[in-house]
Amino acid sequence: MASSEREHRLRFLGLTERDEQLLREFRPVLEQHVTAVEDAFYAHLLNFPETAQLLSDHTTVERLKKLQRDYLLRLFEGKFDDAYFQDRLRIGKTHERVGLSPRWYLMAYNLYFKLITPLIRDHCIATPGHAHETIVALEKAFMLDASLAMDAYIASDRYRHLQQLESIINDSADVIFSLDNDGRFRSWNRAAEKVFGWRAEEVLGKPLKLLVPPDRLHAGELAQIESEIHRVGHCHLETVRVAKDGRIVPVEVSVTLLRDPQGNPIGRSAILRDITSRQRLEEEKLRAERLAVIGTMSAKLAHEIRNPLSSITLNIDLVRDEIETLSQASPAAGTESRALLQSLDTEVRRIQRVTEDYLKFARLPKPMPDRVQLNEILDQGLSFLDSLFTATNVTVAKELDPALPVLLADEGQLWQAILNLVRNAIEAMPRGGTLTVLTTSQPQHICLTIRDTGKGMTEQERTQVFTPFFSTKVGGTGLGLPLTQQIINEHGGQIRCESTPGQGTTFVIELPLRHGQTS
Ligand code: ADP
Ligand code: MG
Repeated sequence: MASSEREHRLRFLGLTERDEQLLREFRPVLEQHVTAVEDAFYAHLLNFPETAQLLSDHTTVERLKKLQRDYLLRLFEGKFDDAYFQDRLRIGKTHERVGLSPRWYLMAYNLYFKLITPLIRDHCIATPGHAHETIVALEKAFMLDASLAMDAYIASDRYRHLQQLESIINDSADVIFSLDNDGRFRSWNRAAEKVFGWRAEEVLGKPLKLLVPPDRLHAGELAQIESEIHRVGHCHLETVRVAKDGRIVPVEVSVTLLRDPQGNPIGRSAILRDITSRQRLEEEKLRAERLAVIGTMSAKLAHEIRNPLSSITLNIDLVRDEIETLSQASPAAGTESRALLQSLDTEVRRIQRVTEDYLKFARLPKPMPDRVQLNEILDQGLSFLDSLFTATNVTVAKELDPALPVLLADEGQLWQAILNLVRNAIEAMPRGGTLTVLTTSQPQHICLTIRDTGKGMTEQERTQVFTPFFSTKVGGTGLGLPLTQQIINEHGGQIRCESTPGQGTTFVIELPLRHGQTS
């Protein structure tokens, strides 16, 4: 520190030559008491676990006491010259290097002040004014030392480094916390607050158990982690933890043993990564793979069944002819055989229908898009089904937007998709009802709504309707809606479903209008 800076600092604190002189005058008294002062000083420090741990060794304490005695006596020489400043800065750096927290360092001045002022008062009992002046001089001298200590800390690389570390830890997307040797939280970063919903002040000092679901606790997971740490110093695992609101959070955990500079264990540090979204992706991938396998297998199976089925159908026709000839001789036997044959025929046709559905689903060709007007597809298609609607007592209400833009789509596939929805709607209204077909246009897409007044679905059913093979119908294949969804997706669109049990179901399809497609 340049001498002008030194003078500036002394002036700033108001530390004058008079102060220096007062301190010098008191020095002989301090000399008599300095050992007692140091004893009291260290006795006080032993009250705190943090410092008690540092001062557990007797010889260290004796060495420190001697250094501190020299320091106090030097202070009372009242000579705040360049050498004094250099020494204070150097000692500040040493303290910073050994990792003594600035808080303890600054607190020491306070403690000395409390121990020395009674001595000054006693000594100057006859001249209270003089005592007061000496005490103020001491206060200024301590402030000088404290300010130099702070300079040493703040200028240090380590301090800046610590600050950087702190912000890295706080800004980390991963949960980071530390525990003491008793497994209680000592630090808790911002990501931890976000993932688990506990604020730092709520968890600090609380036991780790707070985050561990009871079944994991009973299974002895924490003990296993501890034994692994004992063995190799760290532990990695995938498990679950519980948030403040009871939510179970899947996490990847890394725990490491924390040691002090002397190598003694002082706790654990833990990094937890929330893997909820990763797990969901993995589950979806697994499901898609499983479906692909089922799809290929069922396509093969359906293909294998198709040929024998055709020959069975053919043979049924031949047998029917045969029966007609034979029944001319015995009409009664003929009637029974015809009935049996009829039920055989019905069952075979059912198998045929199911296999065709499977094949359609498994071998859906790429759509061949063309310019189509959805309203026209609906008008034509639905009119073909007129007799079916009459037979099932279903009224059709069409609300088609006349300004609906032209769409690029595969007409055949699109109708197939719609037909599946219409069929399901009719099947959901065994006693008849209303089928509403609605089209609207949005700036980015066309919207098609198909609504029935049928039996509706439970929430559980609703979430499964697009899962292949899910069906609540006798003889249902559970492939109609997955096929519809696949067609809509292939067209870049989306389909969703709302339903109320006993009231009806609504399917909404959105098809995107790509560039240059408006009519
Ligand atoms: P399937 O019709 O062969 O059962 P789908 O894939 O077409 O197969 O439909 C799956 C299931 O979804 C049906 O079995 C039924 O439980 C339910 N579902 C579909 N559409 C409706 C609807 N409009 N109303 C009530 N339930 C429906
Ligand atoms: Mg169906």
